Amino acid sequence: MTAFWIEPDFDDHELVQLVSDRDSGLTALIALHSTHLGPGAGGTRFWHYAEPADAVRDVLRLSRGMSYKNAMAGLPMGGGKAVILADPAGQKTPQMLAAFGRAVNSLGGRYVTAEDVGITEADMVAIARETRFVSGLPVEGDAAGGDPGPFTAMGIYHGIKAAVRHKLGRDDMQGVHVALQGTGSVGGGVARLLARDGARLTLADIDAARAQALADELDGDAVPADAVMSTACDVFSPNALGAVLDEEGIARLDCAIVAGGANNQLARPEHGPLLAERGILYAPDYVINAGGIISVTLEYLCRTEGGPCDINEVRRRIALIPERLQQIWEESAASGLSPDQVADRMAQRLIGRG
Ligand code: NAD
Repeated sequence: MTAFWIEPDFDDHELVQLVSDRDSGLTALIALHSTHLGPGAGGTRFWHYAEPADAVRDVLRLSRGMSYKNAMAGLPMGGGKAVILADPAGQKTPQMLAAFGRAVNSLGGRYVTAEDVGITEADMVAIARETRFVSGLPVEGDAAGGDPGPFTAMGIYHGIKAAVRHKLGRDDMQGVHVALQGTGSVGGGVARLLARDGARLTLADIDAARAQALADELDGDAVPADAVMSTACDVFSPNALGAVLDEEGIARLDCAIVAGGANNQLARPEHGPLLAERGILYAPDYVINAGGIISVTLEYLCRTEGGPCDINEVRRRIALIPERLQQIWEESAASGLSPDQVADRMAQRLIGRG
């Protein structure tokens, strides 16, 4: 317990649970930040961490981010997250997923899980054999739910367009230069949507072949992963892992806007004001990347409470993301606070901690 209290990212989390299953080799952490608005909802990340302390930090920050994200998206859900600590080889077995499902189930619905980095829809199906507190399951036809990646991408696409309108005064994306870091489920989806509008794309991934294949498909340029942050562009869109916006990263940026889907982009709270001082417009990550959680939450509420299951309801709610961003940017301009500070205050009020 002491370790959590001295951990700077501990923020009165309601629960932090270490799960250890010797038979399957599973080691996982589940964190519930707030259940003020409903069950803690947020995905499971499967990742190899250099140090266990990195996993603790990640799950604390990610679960708080989910409290804020769900509140700002107007969902009746609190914030939770899980990380499965992978071995260096990233070995994932059915037994491990089953043990993880039992751990989720033991929380009796206080935590509802879904996909995050390293976890597929098929993994969710495996986890769902052990617990019903799961979303992001395959769906048929025009129903809410399934893989959240495309919905997250849709929200980011709308958010980037809103930022371009706000900062650059442009209503179209023709020739607007977007540099994307990460070309996976989210980054790839954002790139494809932007390409349809004629945006100029620079693409980077630590999997260089993946970035190159997407560049070939969309007539963009692939650059090495370590070069993308210093690319001169209109929009830098981080869609890989978090904490890329630290002092060094911000100093390298040569863009007018940062708007992307990665969670926890700001390494520390002071980096939001630093971006603002550089005159770079920031779209707070948990506001712009809420598309996926909107979809999987509606899927979950449809299955468990008979809520609306229709994909059009998902689209309608995702289309509200630009309005929220606009409100944040206006309050930021009026108050002198940076956009992330404005968003944090709004979210804290919504979860009863303001
Ligand atoms: P993904 O695993 O499909 O893709 C991530 C990509 O980033 C991979 O291609 C990987 O090779 C690449 N990558 C990793 N480190 C990199 C680096 N340093 N530089 C360049 N590329 C790098 O994951 P995803 O689902 O696309 O998620 C991407 C980010 O968006 C994550 O931070 C995730 O937490 C966040 N997010 C995802 C969703 C969702 O619906 N999938 C929702 C909200 C937020």
